[in-house]
Amino acid sequence: MNKKTIQDVDVKGKKVIVRVDFNVPLDQDGHITNDTRIKAALPTISYLREKGAIVILMSHLGRPKGQVKEELRLGIVADRLGQLIDCKVLYAKDCIGPEPEALISGMQPGDVLLLENLRFYPEEEKNDRDFARKLASLAELYVNDAFGTAHRAHASTAGIAEFLPAVAGLLMQSEIGIMGKALENPERPFVAILGGAKVSDKMAVIENLMNKVDTLIIGGGMANTFLAAQGKDMAKSLVETDKIDLARCLMKQAAEKGKAFLLPSDLVAAEAFADDAKHQVVAADQIPAGWMAMDIGPASIGSFGEVIKNAKTILWNGPMGVFEMPSFAKGTNEIARAVTEAQAVSIVGGGDSVAAVQNTGLAHKITHISTGGGATLEFLEGKELPGVAVLQDRSE
Ligand code: ADP
Ligand code: MG
Repeated sequence: MNKKTIQDVDVKGKKVIVRVDFNVPLDQDGHITNDTRIKAALPTISYLREKGAIVILMSHLGRPKGQVKEELRLGIVADRLGQLIDCKVLYAKDCIGPEPEALISGMQPGDVLLLENLRFYPEEEKNDRDFARKLASLAELYVNDAFGTAHRAHASTAGIAEFLPAVAGLLMQSEIGIMGKALENPERPFVAILGGAKVSDKMAVIENLMNKVDTLIIGGGMANTFLAAQGKDMAKSLVETDKIDLARCLMKQAAEKGKAFLLPSDLVAAEAFADDAKHQVVAADQIPAGWMAMDIGPASIGSFGEVIKNAKTILWNGPMGVFEMPSFAKGTNEIARAVTEAQAVSIVGGGDSVAAVQNTGLAHKITHISTGGGATLEFLEGKELPGVAVLQDRSE
């Protein structure tokens, strides 16, 4: 990775402002239902504390649309963080101005402060220069550890870097380091597995990965559009008819580049979009009239599994079927198992695929589980993320 990280700079005694992604899911009573994102920031927070920095954290939470929303205050996150690092986390009910300034003036090296929800100010998402300057004025060094929001050019992810030296946190480093290596210099064979509902979400990812991988495996709803492009009758399956030409074009490109492009040879088809619907395994061109593809079939699981087993780098994004319904979860679960069993660098991204891997109980065997949704996809599209672009290069 060519970006400077917190390990490349002296942080001792310095006030360090860190953009983290504490946008955690909350239930109706405002309780945190999953603290994975808080845990993902702990390596950076612990490192900075150990090195004697004064740690000032900032994040957004939910979509307050530029207004103060009581139910989206970050106090509850400060409390959870305090439990996780076993220390009192200070909490400022504003992210700029006198309140955080007063708290920071009393902080000692190793202390941690969490600022209020950045998106209470409309200036945050507008990447307002004056707002970015006010955030920057609280500290002497800026760290971006919020990979999940790095695809947005906001005041706390991009604008602030104009006013402070800017480096990557450890989560950011591992995200862009591991995925960057896979894209630039992978151990081969490099296999990408793409699934999920729609091709249109991931068209640009397919196009970019096509130049990097040895084999592309396509499953899930998006495979239907490719199968339709091969002339197969997909009956009532989810097909994006306006993307069929593009799908045909992508398959032609893959053939020209000598890349293997694998589609399911069999499917689990159902009479209706329901877990208890009548269903059966059929060849990919034998979906009964009025039925729909809901999962990949056993022959596809077998052939995809063979390729996955022999891979040295695996990138997986998107489930193989409607895995929320147990009747159609087998393809996704079996592919998750195959990925965890492979002797390869394995990377899984995307909310639903990550959930599927976590359900296997074997997630610890995955080399890297990406914390980003949209950011991961844009990274895989080959775009430079604004929140990464502003960080100092190693050579600087
Ligand atoms: P991720 O979150 O891993 O990036 P996506 O959000 O792109 O994945 O896609 C997940 C969704 O795709 C799931 O809700 C799943 O039900 C749906 N899906 C997968 N296969 C099919 C299919 N054959 N027909 C309809 N929907 C499907
Ligand atoms: Mg999803």
